[in-house]
Amino acid sequence: MVYRGNTKAKIMVVGEAPGETEDIEGKPFVGRAGKLLDDILAAVGLDESSVYITNVVLRRPPKNRTPLAQEVAWFLPYLMENIRLVDPHIILLAGACACKAVLTDEKQGITKIRGQWFERQFGGEGGLDGEGLRLVMPVFHPSYLLRNPSRKVDGPKWLTWQDIKEVRRRYNELTGEGGDEKEEGDEGEEGGGGGKMPAGAPKADA
Ligand code: URA
Repeated sequence: MVYRGNTKAKIMVVGEAPGETEDIEGKPFVGRAGKLLDDILAAVGLDESSVYITNVVLRRPPKNRTPLAQEVAWFLPYLMENIRLVDPHIILLAGACACKAVLTDEKQGITKIRGQWFERQFGGEGGLDGEGLRLVMPVFHPSYLLRNPSRKVDGPKWLTWQDIKEVRRRYNELTGEGGDEKEEGDEGEEGGGGGKMPAGAPKADA
C-alpha cells in the first residue's frame, strides 16, 4: 500500500519517500515522523478520515538517502494520477523533495515558501474549478521538526503551527466545516478548526 487515509479526502499530504518503518509496514508516515505528522493534523482536528497521505517516491531509497532526481521523475506520473483520482482541493507538500517535485517552477527553497498558498492547475477534471485547480502549500517535513524541536517563536515548530492553522481555516472555508475557532492555547475539545498544537507548540512565553 502506498497511502493511508481517506481516498476521498480533500487534503492530501505528500512526503518524500518511505523510511524503514514505512518499508516494513507498507504504509507512509507510520514511524516517528508519521506520529508527529498525525499530532500536527490532530491539533486542528484532522485525521485519516479527512486526509490522504502519500509520498513522491514510493520505494525506500537505500540507507534513507534523499531520492535522486531520476527516481522522483520516475514516480511523478504516479503522484499526478494519484492527485487526479483522489481529487484533493488542498495539497500539503512536506519537505523540499515534494516541493521540488510538484512546484517545478518555484526557485525558492522550502524555508522561504513554506506557509504560502500556491494555486496550481494539475489538468483533468476535479479540483476547485472542475479543471484540476488545487491549492498547494509547502510545509516543513516532520523529520525536520524532529531534528529541530525548539518551541521558539518563529522557529520551525512554531511556524508549522501557524501553517496548519491556516490550512484548517482554508479547509473550513472550502468545505463549510468548522466555525467554532479556538485560539491557540485554549483548552477544550478538539475538532472544528481550533485545537492545540501538542508536542512542541509554543506557549506565549516561548
Ligand atoms: N518520511 C517521508 O517522507 N515519508 C514517509 O512515509 C516517512 C518518512
